[in-house]
Amino acid sequence: MKTVAIAGRGSIGLLIALELYKKHPNIDITLYGERNRYSGSYAAGAMINILSEIDCFNFDHPLSKWKLKNRTQALQEWDNLDNYLLENQILGKSIYTSTSTRVSLDNRAINEVEKNSFESMLKAAKEYNIDVELEVTDDKKGLLIKEENSIDSNVLLESIDNYLQTVITVLDCDVKSLNKTNSDNWSIKDSHHKERNFDTVIIACGAWSEKLISQAEGVSMPNIQSFYGIGSALLVKSQLPYIKTPELTQIIRTPNRGGTCGIHGVQRNNGLYIGASSHTSHLALKYPNPESIRTLFEGAERFLEIDTYELGFEIAIGYRPVTTDHVPIIGSLSENLWCIYGTKRDGLSWAPYFSKHLVNHLFGSLDRNWYELLTLCAPYRKAISAGNIDECIESYLLSKQWEDYQHNRVFDDKKRNKLRLMAKEAHEFINRDSDKQIGLNNEIINIVYYRNCKT
Ligand SMILES: Cc1cc2nc3c(=O)[nH]c(=O)nc-3n(C[C@H](O)[C@H](O)[C@H](O)COP(=O)(O)OP(=O)(O)OC[C@H]3O[C@@H](n4cnc5c(N)ncnc54)[C@H](O)[C@@H]3O)c2cc1C
Repeated sequence: MKTVAIAGRGSIGLLIALELYKKHPNIDITLYGERNRYSGSYAAGAMINILSEIDCFNFDHPLSKWKLKNRTQALQEWDNLDNYLLENQILGKSIYTSTSTRVSLDNRAINEVEKNSFESMLKAAKEYNIDVELEVTDDKKGLLIKEENSIDSNVLLESIDNYLQTVITVLDCDVKSLNKTNSDNWSIKDSHHKERNFDTVIIACGAWSEKLISQAEGVSMPNIQSFYGIGSALLVKSQLPYIKTPELTQIIRTPNRGGTCGIHGVQRNNGLYIGASSHTSHLALKYPNPESIRTLFEGAERFLEIDTYELGFEIAIGYRPVTTDHVPIIGSLSENLWCIYGTKRDGLSWAPYFSKHLVNHLFGSLDRNWYELLTLCAPYRKAISAGNIDECIESYLLSKQWEDYQHNRVFDDKKRNKLRLMAKEAHEFINRDSDKQIGLNNEIINIVYYRNCKT
């Protein structure tokens, strides 16, 4: 009997395991992973957003174009998953918690990033023929995206996890190391000091994947580095019988603001989710920044018009897996060793699509669109440029300016000049040995600079 191990119990690992079990019940499947409070999938909103992920910085990127082109299939895979979970009584009701996304832009707002991102969405909707409604009033512009919706990621993932525990082997331990055996199997040592052999191993450990790959003997590291994109969000709910927790029937959000996905409110089964902050680092930071939490509360009241007064809250926290070029790493690292991580801000939206096609691929069926994605995301590819270097530097300055505005900080010419120099140095460093000139994403410039250029 063929044996497959999957490392990682987030959305990607769980859905690959489910898909594998559905399509190939005769395979011996083992899913590894300790319960981890920083799993990105559990901290996610979870908006199934594709058009509303488009912003003024990523509009022209080949990955954005691929996503817009393939979005119908990605959404269809959610419907297929919903049906499967209902038919097999894995869930008692539909996974969806809302039926559309409303992106709103305050006419009084002067944030250029938001304005430009709103325009980018409109442009993409037109180009890709997406059914949207534009609503304009004196104080607001709204874009209603009918095809997008949200789920409760915790309910979904816990139900799938519980189900898998009854049909495959699920181990509450992490993979510690990987070695190729003489008989061409992969030998896994886990955190409970047990060793097992497998024909095929899939690494789906989100932000921790790179760490595990570095512990795989004889396997080269991908060319593109990955980082921890710590994200925090609020789960607000009433603790008093006479105060009602606000309820939403659609996702409400502002446009993307570069690093973060704007401020958004999403219905969850046990409260209202208000997300989400973003801070990318090479370190696994443990706590959100107090400014981020303040911005979430202010944003909820100012942009989403949600009154949080008298409500209680919990903080949801997790790592977005972020790569240097903001493109996921998906593909084969060695014979029968696969990895899939780096999905950043919208990995949950794509998890059913990615899982289905990865499983099909392992068993010989290669879809043309999936193949196109694999070419973009190959682990040993060169970094994909975020665009022309000068434009990337200007985008970085723009995002820093409005980030400061959002956090009530001063952004003057002195700061602009200092950041411009930093951005130039970061680009010089990253392009030092390369003939191809790579433009960096806003969020990565600081990491490259502080790790490599600051003396
Ligand atoms: C605050 C926030 C909000 C977000 N909102 C959205 C959203 O609205 N929509 C959307 O589409 N996406 C959203 N995302 C992004 C999305 O969550 C991620 O892209 C996606 O969930 C990543 O899934 P994953 O399975 O790769 O990683 P994770 O969910 O992080 O799972 C990785 C798992 O691997 C485990 N692991 C680590 N090391 C090992 C090891 N050695 N062995 C075994 N297991 C290991 C970890 O414990 C973890 O359980 C959000 C993320 C955050 C943080």
